[in-house]
Amino acid sequence: MSGVSMKSRILLLGPPGAGKGTQAATLTEALDIPHISTGDMLRAAVKAGTPVGRKAKAVMDSGELVSDEIVIGIAEERLSEDDAREGFLLDGFPRTLAQADALDAMLGRLDVELDCCLAITVDNEAVVGRLLKRAEIEGRADDNEETIRERMRVYDAETAPLLEFYGNRDRLVEVDGLGTINEVGERIRKSLNG
Ligand code: ADP
Repeated sequence: MSGVSMKSRILLLGPPGAGKGTQAATLTEALDIPHISTGDMLRAAVKAGTPVGRKAKAVMDSGELVSDEIVIGIAEERLSEDDAREGFLLDGFPRTLAQADALDAMLGRLDVELDCCLAITVDNEAVVGRLLKRAEIEGRADDNEETIRERMRVYDAETAPLLEFYGNRDRLVEVDGLGTINEVGERIRKSLNG
């Protein structure tokens, strides 16, 4: 695949552990678009000890959401960069309806439209197992069982309503996240080409 495909402004939605980061990496490389992950940007800010990072750390470690104000700010800054002009994949943003409204407004300012909201669906219990395994490998501070369950609860309460938000606008494409990385990747490619 070369250049940017038709469906190049993509938003990736799914509960913690659905495999968003993994699939995003493959997809952004294939489509030659930047992978914009608010989770990655926040972790980088924590590591660098910036004011945003200092504010965000405790919130992230407990599995809660960082304030809309902070993430909307970092998302807009990143989306305004040149490399995001022709396409991007947003991973982990928006996570609340307020963020989705803010995204609409910023895309309006940039005079571009979202092509597709790709939702990876998985069973909650299968995901807890996956995340505990990742915790052992990566040692992320927010990957212990209690925090994982809290992130799941927050997802169901705050982020799952976005499925309806984008469904209502005919932008939603749902993909089953159960299976190997390649199987899920293939489903995603098919659904984007369809
Ligand atoms: P996950 O592995 O659960 O998909 P991410 O790596 O996307 O998580 O994000 C890790 C943490 O960073 C979240 O639990 C949350 O505290 C914070 N975060 C990331 N993106 C957002 C956002 N859009 N709004 C609020 N908090 C966010």
